[in-house]
Amino acid sequence: EAYARIGQVDGKIKAFLKLDEENARAAAKSLDGQLGSGSARGLLFGLPIGIKDNIVTEGVTTTCASQFLRNFNPVYDATVVAKLKDAQAVSIGKLNMDEFAMGGSNENSSFHTTYNPWNTDYVPGGSSGGSAAAVAAGEVYFSLGSDTGGSIRQPAAYCGIVGLKPTYGLVSRFGLVAFASSLDQIGPLTKNVEDSAYLLQAIAGHDPQDSTSAKVDIPDYISALSGDVKGLRVALPKEYMSEGIDPKVRDAVMTALKTLESLGAVVEEVSLPHSEYAVAAYYLLASSEASSNLARFDGVRYGVRAENPKNLLDLYHKSRSEGFGPEVKRRIMLGTYALSSGYYDAYYLKAQKVRTLIKQDFDRVFESYDVIIGPTAPTAAFKVGSQVDNPLTMYLNDIMTIPVNLAGIPAISVPCGFADGLPVGLQIIGKALDESTVLRVAHAYE
Ligand code: GLN
Repeated sequence: EAYARIGQVDGKIKAFLKLDEENARAAAKSLDGQLGSGSARGLLFGLPIGIKDNIVTEGVTTTCASQFLRNFNPVYDATVVAKLKDAQAVSIGKLNMDEFAMGGSNENSSFHTTYNPWNTDYVPGGSSGGSAAAVAAGEVYFSLGSDTGGSIRQPAAYCGIVGLKPTYGLVSRFGLVAFASSLDQIGPLTKNVEDSAYLLQAIAGHDPQDSTSAKVDIPDYISALSGDVKGLRVALPKEYMSEGIDPKVRDAVMTALKTLESLGAVVEEVSLPHSEYAVAAYYLLASSEASSNLARFDGVRYGVRAENPKNLLDLYHKSRSEGFGPEVKRRIMLGTYALSSGYYDAYYLKAQKVRTLIKQDFDRVFESYDVIIGPTAPTAAFKVGSQVDNPLTMYLNDIMTIPVNLAGIPAISVPCGFADGLPVGLQIIGKALDESTVLRVAHAYE
């Protein structure tokens, strides 16, 4: 069914970079054999899933949508992929994204753009745009994405689906091609909150192969979906509803908050005073980490190797010049600059201090509130091509998702109405490792 649907719609949506039909059919067949045998079924038994193409899959190309890795065939599975296999989900293929997860529209993919299933003149968001569009278009039941500054939640919002960024450390990053290691998290993109709880249940948990993986007991996320939000304390940050937010998005969020109030929640306005510095701090920190992480792509160890180099230095130079796209180069240059001696204190160190202040803003609010709610993004999806020449405008779309990554806390985006016929996302932010509350509130609202 998944492949039939992909055959019908993916020519227009272009969510997939690679279909893995042979392996998927073999996996499905062996699950078929298990039916009727009485043996216990995995949590995701037989369910078709798509995987963002920066999560490594043994024997199936993992390109990060980059020319650099166009032929890269990993020799192992990421921990999340191994966990999906244990849960008996069936991977259908690899999903398009912005190159190395840098971007918010999928227009930075070096292969092709993905289009928003609600209206193909519009972007699906990014960087997990393929993951969001494939679910929204009914090509797979759910998918995995990664979120460094909003890349699960923002495309989920633009495509009218549910996207969850877990607490930093809850889901193993082993086998996720690193962009900014202190911010990256893998998470589920799904049609509804219940599916999100199931997928999170399957992928969460400590992994000795990831040194930043949290050693915590994993609660039962599915039974947390009680529907009860009576007495829940909801904070609405005034900075998330100020100028720059499309009034139609603001209205949709206010209506959603009224719904939660009618279910017994108490909503109050709060302030997250350092929010305005989040985008600047993020683009310094994320680019700094990226410049270091992407040093491994040298033309020797991974991916493409430039032809006829004059010497080793020339090999590095040519391979990187040919292999990386313009946005990736921009970030490597920005990050290298911010980390260089003489500038480190002024930029990198200062951005780290801002990061702490942003985390403290959240800590303060969470002393008196259970969740923080606002829009996921300032607008609904924008037109293909409309922001591609203006990186600063593009960066500002992340203004409400980035603080969450800087603080390492969980947040979900759920659909909350429309602006001019395009979906709007409601962002529900929770305390560290309190995914259960985030999911419960999202489920009660949905
Ligand atoms: N849009 C943001 C960026 O370009 C977020 C990307 C992400 O979360 N991977 O960095």
